[in-house]
This record gives sequence, structure tokens and C-alpha cells, in this order.
Amino acid sequence: MIRKILVATGCCVALLLSSIPCYCWGFYAHPKINYFAVFLLPPEMMVLYKGNIGFLTEHAVDPDKRRYAIKDEGPRHYIDIDLYGKYPYPELPRKWEDAVEKFGLDSLTDNGIVPWHVQVMLQRLTAAFREKNFSRIMKNSAEIGHYIADAHVPLHASSNHNGQFSNQKGIHGFWESRVPELLAEKEWDFFIGKASYLKNPGAFIWDRVLESAQAADTVLLYEKELSATFPADQKYSFEERNGVIIRQYSSAFSIAYNKMLDGMVERRMRQSIYAIASFWFTAWVNAGQPDLKGLANQKLSEADLREFEELNLKWSGASKMIGREE
Ligand SMILES: [Zn+2]
Repeated sequence: MIRKILVATGCCVALLLSSIPCYCWGFYAHPKINYFAVFLLPPEMMVLYKGNIGFLTEHAVDPDKRRYAIKDEGPRHYIDIDLYGKYPYPELPRKWEDAVEKFGLDSLTDNGIVPWHVQVMLQRLTAAFREKNFSRIMKNSAEIGHYIADAHVPLHASSNHNGQFSNQKGIHGFWESRVPELLAEKEWDFFIGKASYLKNPGAFIWDRVLESAQAADTVLLYEKELSATFPADQKYSFEERNGVIIRQYSSAFSIAYNKMLDGMVERRMRQSIYAIASFWFTAWVNAGQPDLKGLANQKLSEADLREFEELNLKWSGASKMIGREE
């Protein structure tokens, strides 16, 4: 029945598809990643983070919502590092001031700034710990988690970020949303030891971005190879969501792709979780390991709640991301 309807309305479905927004790691994976990061923390931090795990998961997606409201937000989520030459991109200075001097603020911003923005967020979180400011600790923890996780996504480190140059449009959401939504709950394991203190957080996040950049070719190539051998009429399936029929990569195709990638999506999710907990821990240590017990039962202020409400209104009212779409 559904198939018949789709055949008849094929073009409408196609139109609908192009207007469905796609989010980095999706609204599924970001909350999960922040959630599991909490369990890597030492007891002195767990006392605050565990009780507020609901906030940390819910607000893991705030930076993506802000992409609908603020022009400067988009570039914080990615870096088109391949525009700077060849791996490992020695032409691109890792230090922000040197990079600005060499390429200018505008082009640097256009190409994305995620590895630098993670470091800005680390400073903000460290300052929040020093001030023992409950809402700033919570907000910056939730949001640095988002940017760190984005830095782990291969297509967030490639100018061909949605396969738009290689006739693979949709691959962005396929890798980071469809595959984890299908497999994370049932098959993947997110219990991962303990957070580490990062002596050089800048070098750490650059390493993760370089890993992402290196993996981007594989992400694109394997989808192409699989598409060439997979029965074309079984690549996609159709599903009703909220009364709308959407086309998505079929379960069989998604599972076959995940197999070809040999667990890459799970590995990057696990690495994101470890990295986030380690950044939270590093900020707390660098702030002098403040006692967090007194903060555990604090609540957000009215002003904070209003701010979240406004962000939600702007996000739900907007039809398009500002800047590039994914
Ligand atoms: Zn993002």
C-alpha cells in the first residue's frame, strides 16, 4: 500500500526529503554521547553530573538549535580541512592567532572552526568551575560535549560534507544519524573506563580532527562501493514519521554499510564519550578541583529557563539553518 502511494507521489516525496533538516550526530546520538560521558567521571564530579544528567542530555543539542538562530554558530561545528592542502595539513597553523594571520578571519570562519572552538569552550568551562557557577558549568558542559562529538565525525572534517560533490547527498545524516539510531541501542557498547587528564587539550582535539579527516574518504568511498553492488530497489525504504512518509536508507543497506566500515561509527561514538569526559575532567582539575557537593542541588534561574525557551521558539519557528545545510 505504502509503496503504491509512493510510486504515485514520487516527486513529492523527493521534495519532502530535501527539506527535512539533518543534524550533526542527530538528535539521537548527541544526547546519548553526553549521557554516557557522565559515567567516566570521578566521584567528586559525579556528585554534580549524575544528578543533572537529564540536563546534560537534553541540552546536548542546543548548539544545533542555535544554528537556526545565529549566523556565527554554524562554523563552530565543522572544519573543511581538506581545503588547506593534503593530510596532515601542515599548511594550516594549529594556533588560532597564526591561522588568522595566514588566512584571514573571514576565510578561516567560512571553512569552519571546530578545533579552536572546543578550546574556547574549555576555557569557559574552566572559568565556570573557578566561579563555582552552577548554570555556567552545566551549560558549558552540555555544549562542549556537542562540539567535541562533532569533531569526531569524519564528514565534519571534509568540504564534501554531504556527498554533494560526489552524487551521494544524504550520506551525512546516514553515517551519523541513521546508522546509530538503528544499531546503537541493540548492539553497541558505551561503557568505557575513566576520563583522563589532558595535558595538551589543543593537541588532543587536533588529533581527533585529523582522524576524522583521514576517515572521510572511507566514509564516502564505501557508500559508493556498496551502492554499486547493492540492489538499487533495496537501498532505500519508506517509513511514516509523524504522519509524513519519508524515504531513508533501508535497514539492510545500513547494516551492510556498518559492516564495511568495521565498527567505525561505534568507535567514533566511544571516542567522543571518552573525549568529552576527559575535557570536563581537565577543566575541573585546571580550576583547582573545586568542591562540587554544594552545587549538586542547585536549580537553574528564571533567566536561564527563559533563555532556553527563546532558543526553542527560534528553532521550532525557523525553517532553515543559517549558513550551510547538511
Ligand atoms: Zn553540531
